[in-house]
Amino acid sequence: MKAAPAAQKRLLDLAELDSVLDRLAHRRRTLPELAVIDEQSRQYAQLATQAIAAETEAGDLAREQTKAENDVDTVRIRAERDQKRLDSGMVTSPKDLSSLQSEIASLHRRQGDLEEVVLEIMERREAADAKVNDLVAKRDELATTRAAAEDRRDAALAEIGKEAADAESRRSDVATEIPADLLALYEKLRGQYGVGAAMLHGGRCMGCKVSLSIADMNRIKTAPHDEVLRCEECRRILVRTPESGI
Ligand SMILES: [Zn+2]
Repeated sequence: MKAAPAAQKRLLDLAELDSVLDRLAHRRRTLPELAVIDEQSRQYAQLATQAIAAETEAGDLAREQTKAENDVDTVRIRAERDQKRLDSGMVTSPKDLSSLQSEIASLHRRQGDLEEVVLEIMERREAADAKVNDLVAKRDELATTRAAAEDRRDAALAEIGKEAADAESRRSDVATEIPADLLALYEKLRGQYGVGAAMLHGGRCMGCKVSLSIADMNRIKTAPHDEVLRCEECRRILVRTPESGI
């Protein structure tokens, strides 16, 4: 392949811009915020699940408390009704009186037991509510922290995007100065090796850093200026410059 030395030299500018774009793509993929956000999202999901479980438990206890309070009321109302009958003086038979008094006493004991149950549920509910509040607070705090990390990620991505757009635009300009067949070869090699062209500098290929043999250097010295050379080691396009050592 033949190409004007100036066009060949532009390949080095293209390679430099491509390496800038590669670095930017790498930065985009490896932003520290990405790992932070992943970890925070995992923790958030965990806390959200725990909060839902705690809310369910607190809800169950609230219903349990209502039911226990209703039980207390039922027993209390029965005891009050019996007490009224006793106080009314309408029950006169000693046997009935004794039976009524014994029922009232039994209802009071029952009420006492049921009130104990209510108190015990209230204590458990208090603990459950505190757990809900704690988990919801932690979950919401994490959401705020994560939103801040997302903002930092977005700002970093915007900055990288700006630098990439600038490099892309300069790359397009450079590419117009390179003949289509040379550009196609460069792109093919770039796809294969990551970098498509390298400078010959002081007798070394700057792509693979290998020093060329005397025979290769002699061959290059006698090659026409417009011949497109390739590194025998890494197959990249080898571009001659005044620093090539030939
Ligand atoms: Zn090489």
